[in-house]
Amino acid sequence: MQTSKGHVKLIVKNGRYVCPNCKQVTNQQANPQTNAENLILWCRNCKAEFFVNIDHGQCSIVSRCR
Ligand SMILES: [Zn+2]
Repeated sequence: MQTSKGHVKLIVKNGRYVCPNCKQVTNQQANPQTNAENLILWCRNCKAEFFVNIDHGQCSIVSRCR
């Protein structure tokens, strides 16, 4: 397990973000028009939650909730 500080970018796979914890695809869709701040990204596979910022579809981790 890694500490997710700084500008860790999430990988996009099949139009969805990949969980940085378990490397599986989440339900969150990636779209180049999406902008969000402190969005909670939840992974149904490993139940991890992350605060993320999305800038034109580029998703970066702010911090990990659990
Ligand atoms: Zn996960």
